[in-house]
Amino acid sequence: MEQPARVLIVGAGPTGLTLALTLQRYGIGVRLIDRLEQPAGLSKALAVWPASLEVLSSLGVGAEFERASVPLRQVTFGDGAQRLARISMGDGIDSAYPQPILLPQSQTEAILAERFVKLGGTVERGVELTGLTEEEDAVQVTLRHADGRTETSHIAWVVGADGARSAVRHALDIPFDGYTETESYLLGDVRIDNAELDEHSIHIWWHDGGTVALFPFRQGVWRVIVRRRDDVAEQRGEEPPTLEELQQNMTRHGPPGAQLSEPGWLSTFRINERLAVRYRSGRVFIAGDAAHIHSPAGGQGMNTGIQDAANLGWKLAYVIHGRGHAETLLDSYEAERRPVARDVITNAARLLHVGMASHALARLVRDAAVRVLDSMPALQHKLRTEMSETDITYRSGPLVALGGSASHRGRGGVGTRALEIAWLGDADDERRLWPLLNDRHTLLVFSDGDREQAPAAARAAPHAAAVQTIVIGMAADPQGDARRRYGLDAAGWVLIRPDMVIAARGAEDDVAVLERYLQTVIARNAV
Ligand SMILES: Cc1cc2nc3c(=O)[nH]c(=O)nc-3n(C[C@H](O)[C@H](O)[C@H](O)COP(=O)(O)OP(=O)(O)OC[C@H]3O[C@@H](n4cnc5c(N)ncnc54)[C@H](O)[C@@H]3O)c2cc1C
Repeated sequence: MEQPARVLIVGAGPTGLTLALTLQRYGIGVRLIDRLEQPAGLSKALAVWPASLEVLSSLGVGAEFERASVPLRQVTFGDGAQRLARISMGDGIDSAYPQPILLPQSQTEAILAERFVKLGGTVERGVELTGLTEEEDAVQVTLRHADGRTETSHIAWVVGADGARSAVRHALDIPFDGYTETESYLLGDVRIDNAELDEHSIHIWWHDGGTVALFPFRQGVWRVIVRRRDDVAEQRGEEPPTLEELQQNMTRHGPPGAQLSEPGWLSTFRINERLAVRYRSGRVFIAGDAAHIHSPAGGQGMNTGIQDAANLGWKLAYVIHGRGHAETLLDSYEAERRPVARDVITNAARLLHVGMASHALARLVRDAAVRVLDSMPALQHKLRTEMSETDITYRSGPLVALGGSASHRGRGGVGTRALEIAWLGDADDERRLWPLLNDRHTLLVFSDGDREQAPAAARAAPHAAAVQTIVIGMAADPQGDARRRYGLDAAGWVLIRPDMVIAARGAEDDVAVLERYLQTVIARNAV
């Protein structure tokens, strides 16, 4: 049975839908509205990176994404007729889902919406948030329906996942600091023939003072992005490109012979680099593009929104269910996610300016750097890992502080993403961690097996409704590979959050940190 709504999510884009699904996992009634009467149906974000696939899989849609998408196997750089470098994607990415994929955003949204509806949710379309007032125990919202009706109602929590022009952010008067670049970019979804392009690769191709970026997303169909020439921009401003304008750019700067046809979505855009000064005001939050926007270079925008939603979702659910210290949980959202967005904005700007460089000296430096890249596996690995978002680490905020962050550095440490491990089950069958992760915390106890019950497991036992405990003894991990993956060379424990981030860790008898975490985050009516 559908629960009365406790959370209003404004915006049914990728961020709002991910949040709605996350809250739905906890049985929380959600009202999800979108001002559009029909989904926009635009291909916008194409790349879905491993860290997002981890989140999406946990929401039960991993298989649909795999089925509908094209695997992204490499990024190819070229100049004129020659290929300069190729970076493989997915190789050596430490994730249960290492292979990034390409899928039009419209399909990402359709898969998420279908799942939400299948599980009993409703996407209310043609409903626009026009006003919002914070009250002590609720938020008053004004909604305009497509038939002209205006509705005023009260709801406990509101999340603005309503995109770059967020009405929620405006209503809260949160500054969106940053700037808009002056250059115009052209975008076209088109068919490309005659160019012998690998359809599992993004191609960044430059020649004769300009760059084209090509992203495959259906057989023969590509997204083309190119900077509009200044003289054309002077005449045509923000007018969408014609197929001819795209073809001219392709002929001049792109891979030889590429022939464009069958234009679909044609548009221009300018790059904004902006970050909201705050992500929260009392009972109202912002997430996704409402909180951060940047250049599409690097393809991180939608992915960052999906992970904002995963981060906020479980915390809000815990608070609504009366678990944990509300302010600690809710304040940790901005403390963890805003620094990530700041880095994404900086890196996307850097990638854009290097990739699209028009100044002759900058181009020389770029070309030399890309040639070097081709022969430097370590650098390729660094870039690939950065794009996969699996190395994102939460370094600050009240939850990270609780987890005893100094005890281990690097992956496996507090604030980093959980690592996949395998061990032997009772019937000597292989068990893997990832399929077992769920909406609860997961306590991994690596035990030497000579004690009745490990102290960490005993501490967690009273909280079984919110913490599952997995004990991995010596017989299940005879070489110690699983515990070593988590940086433990003796018995110990690791606590993993529902968003697959390491919450806390310690040696076998070192359970004070665990106790503090359990009391602050998981216990009912925590103080
Ligand atoms: C050309 C292009 C290429 C891109 N490529 C990539 C890529 O490869 N990878 C990547 O990760 N990102 C990419 N992005 C960025 C990505 O598209 C965005 O980051 C993503 O759409 C953000 O999702 P969101 O749910 O936060 O916001 P949006 O997708 O903007 O969704 C917001 C929703 O809120 C609704 N809404 C707005 N105001 C209201 C209101 N007042 N009341 C009710 N509803 C409202 C809107 O109708 C909309 O449906 C690209 C963007 C562009 C333009």
